[in-house]
Amino acid sequence: MIPAPPAILGGSPVFPKGSPAWPGHLPEVAEVLAESVASGTWGDYFGPNHATLCTELQEFHDVRHAVLYCSGTAAIEMALRGLNVGLGEEVVLSAYDFKGNFQDILTVGARPVLVDVEPENWSIDLAQLAEAVTEQTRAVIVTHLHGATLDMPAICRFAAEHNLAVIEDACQVPGARIAGRRAGTWGDVGVLSFGGSKLLSAGRGGALLTNRDDVVQRNRIYTQRGNEAYPLSELQAAALRPQLKALDERNRLRQETVDMLRREGLGTGRLAGLRPFQPRAGDESAWYKLGLLYESSAFAGLSAAEFAAAMRAEGVALFPGFDALQSIHSRRRFRAVNDLPVSAASRERVLVLHHPILLEGPSTAKPLLTAIEKIRISAAAVKERLVDASERS
Ligand SMILES: *Cc1c(COP(=O)(O)O)cnc(C)c1O
Repeated sequence: MIPAPPAILGGSPVFPKGSPAWPGHLPEVAEVLAESVASGTWGDYFGPNHATLCTELQEFHDVRHAVLYCSGTAAIEMALRGLNVGLGEEVVLSAYDFKGNFQDILTVGARPVLVDVEPENWSIDLAQLAEAVTEQTRAVIVTHLHGATLDMPAICRFAAEHNLAVIEDACQVPGARIAGRRAGTWGDVGVLSFGGSKLLSAGRGGALLTNRDDVVQRNRIYTQRGNEAYPLSELQAAALRPQLKALDERNRLRQETVDMLRREGLGTGRLAGLRPFQPRAGDESAWYKLGLLYESSAFAGLSAAEFAAAMRAEGVALFPGFDALQSIHSRRRFRAVNDLPVSAASRERVLVLHHPILLEGPSTAKPLLTAIEKIRISAAAVKERLVDASERS
């Protein structure tokens, strides 16, 4: 059988309608927003939805405090400020992490210290933490990325031994359970994002989770300037409440799709060149992005970016992961424990599948693998076409 040509070579895309919209039209959100407007409380600084969302986030996570902010990035900054991290102090984080986390450390006057990732799931390499710690180290930011989960019990043990605070970035895995406990509740402070693409979306927004009264009190003094300086609005809070109710169910559906992708062979055999990130055994993850470890040699030398472009032509929202932090910041801005060789290859190795397609359910797994397989079979022709195109331009 002659395989169908990939869309990037003029064939028809496997998903002609492209990636599903997110958050798109969620009827339960339309309803709660209409109620808020009808009640006249939608313009309140601290309205009923704001207060209730705080309580619901506390109950969902079983923590004493949930504080709402204007973004996840602001919430990470407030985590650092709440822990009183400042001038001349050091904060350890992974060289493969969200850019804003690095910048938040600089924002409070502290110095980022980068450690590398382990090569399986690109999670922070815990063996390197010990090398990173000095007299100046105050905290570590650890981030569950692309569906992988971190060994939070080990991280918290290490931090306690070295008298470090832990900031747990759960922006990509809201609702996940790590060793039975919700992501974002292990560290001194946990952070969620409600950005426009996130699993809980208010277009913008974030939250800080903590059991520490002192963190909340310090942040109150910082953000209360006659009015709240980093606020989440009543309307945003209203939009989030029904999504929080639906989160476990939606996480379960996305998980079923990921399970089906694995069962149908993603990451093994002919598709060993595209290996999905794995949560730790016993953890229940959440999938904001499905991380995939890409092996160019399995696709006739197509670069990760070229492969992703070919997949997007098929209507699949696949993108390169983060740039390694050491590649986008001047060496003067950070300290590193070594040359960070694993994370340095992020552009060639990490791809991320955006989550909306996972919510379509397990039946979407087969067509998704068909798109991958089309490109794999015609990879040499795709490469040739891209080389030709770049020579012409
Ligand atoms: C989205 C995200 C954030 C925060 O993002 P905001 O857009 O500022 O809400 C922080 N960390 C990670 C890992 C993220 O994915």
